[in-house]
Amino acid sequence: MKTYDVVICGGGVIGASVAYFLSRQKDLKIAVVDYKYPGNASRASAGGLWAMGESTGLGCGVILFKTLSKQMRESGATDAPELNPHIMPEPFFNMSMMSNAMYPALYDELLENHGVDFKFERTGLKFVLFDQYDRLYAEHIAAAIPDRQAHVRWLSQAELHDEEPNVSRDAVGAMEFDCDHQINPYRLNEAYLEAARQNGVELYLNTKVTGIERHGNRVTAVKTEQGVLPCQMMINAAGAWAETISQWATGYALPVFPVKGQVIITEKLPKLLNGCLTTSDCYIAQKDNGEILIGSTTEERGFDTSNDVKYIKQLAQGAMKSIPALRDMNIKRCWAGLRPGSPDELPILGPVPGIEGYLNACGHFRTGMLTSAITGQLLDELVRAMPTTIDIEPFAYERFLNEDGIMIAEHKLAHSL
Ligand SMILES: Cc1cc2nc3c(=O)[nH]c(=O)nc-3n(C[C@H](O)[C@H](O)[C@H](O)COP(=O)(O)OP(=O)(O)OC[C@H]3O[C@@H](n4cnc5c(N)ncnc54)[C@H](O)[C@@H]3O)c2cc1C
Repeated sequence: MKTYDVVICGGGVIGASVAYFLSRQKDLKIAVVDYKYPGNASRASAGGLWAMGESTGLGCGVILFKTLSKQMRESGATDAPELNPHIMPEPFFNMSMMSNAMYPALYDELLENHGVDFKFERTGLKFVLFDQYDRLYAEHIAAAIPDRQAHVRWLSQAELHDEEPNVSRDAVGAMEFDCDHQINPYRLNEAYLEAARQNGVELYLNTKVTGIERHGNRVTAVKTEQGVLPCQMMINAAGAWAETISQWATGYALPVFPVKGQVIITEKLPKLLNGCLTTSDCYIAQKDNGEILIGSTTEERGFDTSNDVKYIKQLAQGAMKSIPALRDMNIKRCWAGLRPGSPDELPILGPVPGIEGYLNACGHFRTGMLTSAITGQLLDELVRAMPTTIDIEPFAYERFLNEDGIMIAEHKLAHSL
């Protein structure tokens, strides 16, 4: 029977990144087990490395903002509405900036050492402003991050149209985060996996984890459709499905749950955009192959992965408002993916008290592409019992427990509508 030092449950971008980082020293026997349940988040992702954007309520926060501002307009408010962008806590901000900064070197490393190209592009992220509500929201964001002004660039209407000639003439300007970039999400996932494979990691693909073996408080093996994989350590990187694995491995609940995001992709188009855009309706990113990706909703509907006309129409209308040329384009495909949500939107990293041979690498919600690099590094450090690059206490499982060790977190986003 084959035995492993580490078995990683889940081969989305998080499991794949962890496998790659662990395999770099080539001193551990590692396996990744992955079964592609419908809704795998990594394949559904937009591929934005929007460290500043996602930490300040842009990106996917836009739908929430739009709903709020619509409610204000409908209530007849004429003066400045109280709109509070959802600024993420400092530890997350720092972690995502640090992860973002790892991508240029990681790109070179994976390309040069392993021949895989995840299409890193320096795009910036522009929040396109259409009215006073957008401007106010942008000003709130800028005011909330006084120490990060170096990354904030304000564009006048003329500057915006100079840089993005296809943006509607109704747009009045933009706020840009010049350090937020993009990758191709499928390719990043595949790049980590392929590099890990080249480093000796064994991939059990199209294979379900069916249970976990534990002796006392120590995990001893991962049960799969292809047999039992004895291991010293298992890592739970099962995305939106992580709670099931946690229950098997630890006997404890884990507040990770699916948060659906619907996305539209167009046919391949000539270059219409120079950078990534976000508006109060949607975000828009032209990918390396010319397709334009329009996302995304934030819906708590269990493991449902259907697309519905209402939301697809809203996203399409938002995109056409920003880029009028999209009116003549064809939709190639729509899909829905399941983000691994956690109540406070922060990842859950590291051990569970009282359980040995088990580590969490889950709950990355809407930023798993962005934070996959730092997650891989941190899990490598944790497996090797080294000091971690950043303090992982804010991301520890214990934050969901009360003084008696009882799980108190609900299985829903704290900031949803
Ligand atoms: C619409 C959308 C847009 C997004 N846009 C961005 C973005 O622009 N930037 C960004 O940083 N992030 C984005 N995200 C978030 C990002 O995609 C996720 O945070 C990330 O993909 C999570 O990766 P993961 O590996 O944890 O989960 P997943 O990619 O879901 O992988 C988990 C894997 O585990 C497998 N699995 C589960 N249970 C088992 C089992 N029992 N046996 C075997 N395998 C199992 C699943 O099938 C799956 O393949 C987006 C997500 C969505 C849905």
